[in-house]
Amino acid sequence: MNYLSTRGAGAGERHTFSDILLGGLAKDGGLYLPAEYPRVSADELTRWRALPYADLAFEILSRFSDDIPAEDLRALTRKTYTAQTYCNVRDDESAEQITPLKTLGIENGAPLSLLELSNGPTLAFKDMAMQLIGNLFEYALARHGQTLNILGATSGDTGSAAEYAMRGKQGIRVFMLSPHKKMSAFQTAQMYSLQDPNIFNIAVEGVFDDAQDIVKAVSNDHAFKAKYKIGTVNSINWARVVAQVVYYFKGYFAATKSNDERVSFTVPSGNFGNVCAGHIARMMGLPIEQLVVATNENDVLDEFFRTGIYRVRKAAETYHTSSPSMDISKASNFERFVFDLLGRDPARVLQLFRDVEEKGGFDLAASGDFARVKEFGFVSGSSSHDSRVETIRDVFQRYDTMIDTHTADGLKVAREHLQPGVPMIVLETAQPIKFGETIREALLREPGRPAAFSGLESLPQRFEVLPADAQRVKDFIVANTGA
Ligand SMILES: *Cc1c(COP(=O)(O)O)cnc(C)c1O
Repeated sequence: MNYLSTRGAGAGERHTFSDILLGGLAKDGGLYLPAEYPRVSADELTRWRALPYADLAFEILSRFSDDIPAEDLRALTRKTYTAQTYCNVRDDESAEQITPLKTLGIENGAPLSLLELSNGPTLAFKDMAMQLIGNLFEYALARHGQTLNILGATSGDTGSAAEYAMRGKQGIRVFMLSPHKKMSAFQTAQMYSLQDPNIFNIAVEGVFDDAQDIVKAVSNDHAFKAKYKIGTVNSINWARVVAQVVYYFKGYFAATKSNDERVSFTVPSGNFGNVCAGHIARMMGLPIEQLVVATNENDVLDEFFRTGIYRVRKAAETYHTSSPSMDISKASNFERFVFDLLGRDPARVLQLFRDVEEKGGFDLAASGDFARVKEFGFVSGSSSHDSRVETIRDVFQRYDTMIDTHTADGLKVAREHLQPGVPMIVLETAQPIKFGETIREALLREPGRPAAFSGLESLPQRFEVLPADAQRVKDFIVANTGA
């Protein structure tokens, strides 16, 4: 399996899965994609139906990472996808399923269900990929006798998923910046209560953007970055995307009896990482009818799928909503889909994303390419705070099921795209406890709390408060890497 950049630089060079595992963007600013998507045969699909999650993950991942010895990869997926790690199931569900499918009912002739992706350690779907990344990074670093210092900024989900994936891992340290006193008590406690010596929480005196700017400043200091082996685990990481392909297959098998059936997925979306994995599953041959992109008030993606216009927002135009993990101004993985939409023409992708940087966007409405969006199964919709609250209430009353704000955005939009006879699977991206304020507003009651999280907020916390100053953060890294 060879990888190439969506912008075409280094065409003809060889990049294996391991080569791009620890990196971010390609050197021309593009994103990596496989030179071609592996196709799954009807026989394979039939065989995969019966596999436990970890072995299904092995089958899928091995198609993309043939440079990792099969027995090593199988050990990694079995170590990652265990019932112990994905134990935060609700009711009497089986944690062995890893991603249980919860049937809601039939609406407009379509069976409607939730695919639970948030039973992992941080109660959000990012654990699905991040837990694997932690094990893959540790494995790859050990193989080459290297170490890595992961630097990131977070306002919630990503940072905690990264910390829980990397805690206690050999050769890895995490320096995670978060805005001091700006996260919810639950999210703060999730991160700061970690006592592992390789995890460093840095509370920056400022807002999230200040933390983000520090990460950029440190990453742009190439000498520092090289000397202190600074890396990231942001959503453009290819291994994160490919790890997410697995649960589309798992969800398909759970919702169908035979491979002649087709299903649709609705994906609460921000950076387009999750739904990009759905696109890849479809390109591999999984019988997906529609991929429904659900956004919140930050509707950059919905606007594109409705009109063909991709217009990124300025920071001041980005709303702070009650589904905050979807509050994005541009969608960092979107370029991967555009590459396929344009028939894999890197010169045109380069031009379009130059237009994004220089003119704030591009318009494909008039070109024949936009009409092809349908061939790829994509449709979309958006939601608001009111529809979110209304959906949480409705699903609770009708199905006795509590859903979080992001999943509510998904369900609201899914209902606009139901087709009789086609199962609709909404990806559940977080548990309600993470966004308790809106649950209380909608239901006038407390969100459910998994047993392992009782008393979380009163655990001792370990963090360092620093001013919003890149030099101070660098000094802290130097002091704590022993280099
Ligand atoms: C990250 C996140 C999303 C958005 O996922 P993308 O891959 O960025 O599109 C949606 N919901 C929750 C709860 C998240 O944490």
